[in-house]
Amino acid sequence: MADDSGYPEGVAYVDGDFRPLSEAKISVLDWGFLRSDATYDVVHVWDGKFFRLDRHMDRFMASVEKLRMTLPVDRDGLANILNECVSRSGMRESYVEMILTRGRSPTFSRDPRDAVNNFIAFAMPFGWVMNEEQRQRGINIVIAETRRIPVESVDPTVKNYHWLDLVAGMFESYDRGGESVVLTDLAGNITEGPGFNIFAVKDGRAATADRGVLQGITRQTATELCEELQISVDIGTVTADALRGADEIFITSTAGGIMPVTRIDGEAIRDGKPGPMTGRLTELYWAKHDDPA
Ligand SMILES: *Cc1c(COP(=O)(O)O)cnc(C)c1O
Repeated sequence: MADDSGYPEGVAYVDGDFRPLSEAKISVLDWGFLRSDATYDVVHVWDGKFFRLDRHMDRFMASVEKLRMTLPVDRDGLANILNECVSRSGMRESYVEMILTRGRSPTFSRDPRDAVNNFIAFAMPFGWVMNEEQRQRGINIVIAETRRIPVESVDPTVKNYHWLDLVAGMFESYDRGGESVVLTDLAGNITEGPGFNIFAVKDGRAATADRGVLQGITRQTATELCEELQISVDIGTVTADALRGADEIFITSTAGGIMPVTRIDGEAIRDGKPGPMTGRLTELYWAKHDDPA
């Protein structure tokens, strides 16, 4: 899955042209790089088809607006570029990222209004938050001491690269024998992890955080699948204790769908095996990939 340069195979769209992913570069002066001043979205392609592309484009375009940036293409143009990256790559399963950075100012002014926004897209091989063995047994997630950036500072509903809190949390987790991490907000309530939302199931009801999180498309799909299975979902406050005391836990992400968590801070959730509701939801999630909608 890597070419001679060691980069994953794939196709990118940069500076208005398609090229091999290994040759896609941006300037070191781009504020996307220097200031994490960017937004992005990721949609996956499974068996040659995009999954929920409209929702990902809606969220991306809303994020662009919230950051007061301008996309150089319209919605159809965006869809065409994403399609083209995938078809040129020849991949049937891929992870397709669209990015708009602040770019840079032609006069090197420090005023963000002077910047020319920079649109980049690429298709690369499908990547999973968890490997196959982890998806079978479920992972051990640590609740980090590091807190998620407050919503008063950075709007978490804009998908962004402000990952230093999440990365610090990942190191905390590895130091404590964990495999991934979830961060709490300043009040100690559960928010999300590096690239995923998290659900706790108790007495047949599912719960996930309403605030301090990205409104994940997979979170939304999982909520709809719960409705289909007549499982109630509480979108509200999930305390750290509620997570520890759950009957089952799962995470949701475009990079892997619905996946089981079987330990929190090393302590087994119930019998330490992936829960039955998680199993049913995962199956239904992948079955939906054959549904034309
Ligand atoms: C992308 C992401 C998610 C998951 O969102 P999906 O749309 O389901 O892929 C959750 N939290 C953060 C911080 C993310 O970046």
